[in-house]
Amino acid sequence: MAASPHARFTIDCDVLPRFTAAYLRVAGEECAFIEAHTAHAVPKLLAELAARGMAPEQVRFIVVTHAHLDHAAGAGELLALCPNATLLAHPRAAQNLIDPSKLEASAKRVYGEARFAELYGRIVPAPAERVRALEDGATFELGGATLAVHHTAGHAKHHFVVHDPALSTVYTGDAFGLVYPALQHAGRFAIASTSPIDFDAVEARRSLDIILGLGAEHACLTHFGAFDDLPVIGAQVRAWVDRSEAWMAECLASTDPLEVQTARVASQIRAVLAELPLRKEDLELLALDIDLNAQGIAVAAERKRKAS
Ligand SMILES: [Zn+2]
Repeated sequence: MAASPHARFTIDCDVLPRFTAAYLRVAGEECAFIEAHTAHAVPKLLAELAARGMAPEQVRFIVVTHAHLDHAAGAGELLALCPNATLLAHPRAAQNLIDPSKLEASAKRVYGEARFAELYGRIVPAPAERVRALEDGATFELGGATLAVHHTAGHAKHHFVVHDPALSTVYTGDAFGLVYPALQHAGRFAIASTSPIDFDAVEARRSLDIILGLGAEHACLTHFGAFDDLPVIGAQVRAWVDRSEAWMAECLASTDPLEVQTARVASQIRAVLAELPLRKEDLELLALDIDLNAQGIAVAAERKRKAS
């Protein structure tokens, strides 16, 4: 029997092991990267390509699920090194990848210049003629396989998931929560990502329905890896979305300043985590996500209040 021409490989991108993934999708003589992490990860992505016996010229697509920097900051640099690749992104993400000045400015406001350089390196603009914005339900062909994107707005308005029926896989970006391998020692532990600035509970539940409705056997999460128990992960993430919605409602009803609201939500998240079989080091690993999730909930409430 001939070996299947279809395969995917997980690439560990971050400084912290098994924290942030990209995927190399091989289909015969062609391949694609799903997620690009940062400029720091580009050598790792190219090393995986070489390890699979493929050349940068064979990369047809670089697909980013959304324009958050741990998914997309390396895309322009990777594009420059893969001469035949097209960058595929959500229509709301595409413009910010062609002109990353807004992404860069907002990240520098949060982290400062030095920390920004450490985390993200540089963000190379993607040439407009090499970027294709994909509408909801759009497909692309890779070495005889047809993949489709589905817009999933709960985590970010510029987010889509990628359905890969040939491998019964869905690449979920941040729309199917965070499942860090190091935290799976007492059974499945999944948490939603509600990081700033677009968190929307109604859309987040709809995103979960879209992902589960695809009927794929495998979910490939950016944070981190491939999992087969989609209903279990979906139920845990949904519970976090519901809690986050309740905390956001409290923020909406309060006149406390943003920092106070953020601190309150962070302690609410910690109180739920304290009931779970997590160790001290697990909570340390989650510290950044707890802060980001709390900020995201408080910021979403503030944006909603200002919009109304
Ligand atoms: Zn994200």
